[in-house]
Amino acid sequence: MYLARRTAVGGLTGLLTALIIMLLITGAADDQITLAALGGPVWVSVAGMLIGGSYALLFDPRAGGPAEHAVTGMVLGILLWFVWAISLQPLLLGRGHAWAAADAVAAVPKLITYLLQGGLIGLLYGVAYRWLERPLTLAPPPVTIPTITTRVVVLGGGYAGVAAAQALEKELAKAPHVAVWLVSQNNYLIHTPMLSEVSASAVNAQNISPTLRSFFQRVQVVQGDIDRVDMAQRRVILSPDARSPQKELPFDHLVLTMGSIPNFFGNQGVAREAFTFKSLDDAILLRNQIIDMFERADVETDPAKRRRMLTFVVAGGGFAGVELLGGINDFARGICFYYPNVDPAEVRCVLVHSRDTILPELSQELGEFAREKLTERGVEFLLGVRVTGAKPGAVLMGSDELPSDTFVWTAGNQPSPVLKTVGVPLTSRGQLEVNAELAVPNVAGLWAAGDCAQVPDATTGGYAPPTAQHALREGKVLGYNVAATILGKPLKPFYFKQLGSLAALGHQLAVAEVFGRRFSGFLAWLMWRGIYLSKLPTLQKQVRVLLDWVLDIFFPPDIVQTVNFSRPSAAQRLHEREKLDAELRQAEVQS
Ligand SMILES: Cc1cc2nc3c(=O)[nH]c(=O)nc-3n(C[C@H](O)[C@H](O)[C@H](O)COP(=O)(O)OP(=O)(O)OC[C@H]3O[C@@H](n4cnc5c(N)ncnc54)[C@H](O)[C@@H]3O)c2cc1C
Repeated sequence: MYLARRTAVGGLTGLLTALIIMLLITGAADDQITLAALGGPVWVSVAGMLIGGSYALLFDPRAGGPAEHAVTGMVLGILLWFVWAISLQPLLLGRGHAWAAADAVAAVPKLITYLLQGGLIGLLYGVAYRWLERPLTLAPPPVTIPTITTRVVVLGGGYAGVAAAQALEKELAKAPHVAVWLVSQNNYLIHTPMLSEVSASAVNAQNISPTLRSFFQRVQVVQGDIDRVDMAQRRVILSPDARSPQKELPFDHLVLTMGSIPNFFGNQGVAREAFTFKSLDDAILLRNQIIDMFERADVETDPAKRRRMLTFVVAGGGFAGVELLGGINDFARGICFYYPNVDPAEVRCVLVHSRDTILPELSQELGEFAREKLTERGVEFLLGVRVTGAKPGAVLMGSDELPSDTFVWTAGNQPSPVLKTVGVPLTSRGQLEVNAELAVPNVAGLWAAGDCAQVPDATTGGYAPPTAQHALREGKVLGYNVAATILGKPLKPFYFKQLGSLAALGHQLAVAEVFGRRFSGFLAWLMWRGIYLSKLPTLQKQVRVLLDWVLDIFFPPDIVQTVNFSRPSAAQRLHEREKLDAELRQAEVQS
């Protein structure tokens, strides 16, 4: 009902802008853009309603400011010009598409109109929505605030948590007595397949991370660090921080989707020295570290130190490690020209992997292909080799030492440590075991999905792998099942047949296995970009990433350093300030 109302308001806004455009055209002296050239008043109105309706379907009227709305509307206008004005509309009229250069040039007046109409719709839709919302409401607004009788708390704002909360919101639309909270460390979801593009400076960090608040109308988002779960009192306790006291959230149903954290297998040296690669902060820090190394190497005269600074080591030959090193290799070699004293031959990118083939998630053949291609691009592989430790400036592999100031650990993950506080038995890998309905057996109201859960996989007879594809689908079924339990409806089992896997290896190179077929090279890279762009939530972020990619073709990588490693961190600065304040107070007392 809500979406239908939004679409109707969008369509009406589109019609209004069509009228404005027709008035402008008939009043203008320009003989290029005439009503006839645009197909007449009916088609202009249809186009207006189409742009307005699609805009309303895709964008929340409350999100963003007027300028952002206008730009998004213009981009949508261009897309619809292509899809509708020069493709579908001529086809419907029996003329075939108008993609030929001459036809497309003839359709330029339409493009200008669509662009204008899109921009106007973006500006007017939010205003029109609020204006039209009340008369369109069929039932009078409720006079009493419903009493909350059931509380659902979702822990973790990743793929599984967001999908679960979205399903809960949908299924519980007519159950105002149920409140849903989503708790997460950050106020955004990370599209992890594109994380390596952030480290490689190919896309902006914000563009791969839609804010959690853009997904929901009713779900209450709570940003905070989950400290523990108290199952006896059925409450979640959030850690206090410098700005907020401790918070508690009571629950009737608890959904655990907190993903995983790096596992160093107890190796203190690695835990202390290595960069990790799971969060947006990690990706940003790594990008800055690479730039910092180049800045320092450019003025370093000691060849051994320069060599160490320009050696980038990644441990772990799975998706995350290989995609990251492919990206770092391109980025590091692509920015050498900024640094006159750095010889590209000095740059080393090394992958250390304990097995003999990389990308164990794909076939051996594709793993081999990936290794060959990356070797051609200058990547070095140390296969069948284990990292045994690390110390400042070096990675240790048994008795061997590899001098490097940039060492990234992607070779192990473990489920979130918060699971240990729940007080139910965990699997040998530390996950919560759930049944096919994603419920923890024998514990009423406890559910789990994603990387922190051991989920039965009906297609293989084993357990679902830790991938975004699975987490998303598990979350959806989980959300449905929690709502079904509350509403007394039958539950659904989780079933998902994996469609395929893709790994990007850097500039215009990828490997893929989709529907059992293998692809590699440029075609696989196009597939990777197309598939992961379409999977990036929200059209706004898709458009932004697309723009980043287009700009990346024409301009060199951006080397603006946003983290200055020479400056003390915020925590250090706070500590220094507190120390100074205490000294001043003491001096005052003494005087
Ligand atoms: C670099 C990289 C590349 C990847 N590439 C792919 C790929 O190409 N294809 C694919 O299918 N999969 C890929 N994956 C795997 C995929 O990202 C995971 O399987 C998926 O994210 C799991 O989803 P989840 O919801 O279980 O956990 P996550 O997405 O990790 O979400 C967990 C959430 O819980 C929050 N959280 C955790 N602990 C706390 C706490 N104490 N307090 C508050 N909040 C907390 C986190 O902030 C996060 O929001 C990749 C992973 C990485 C790291």
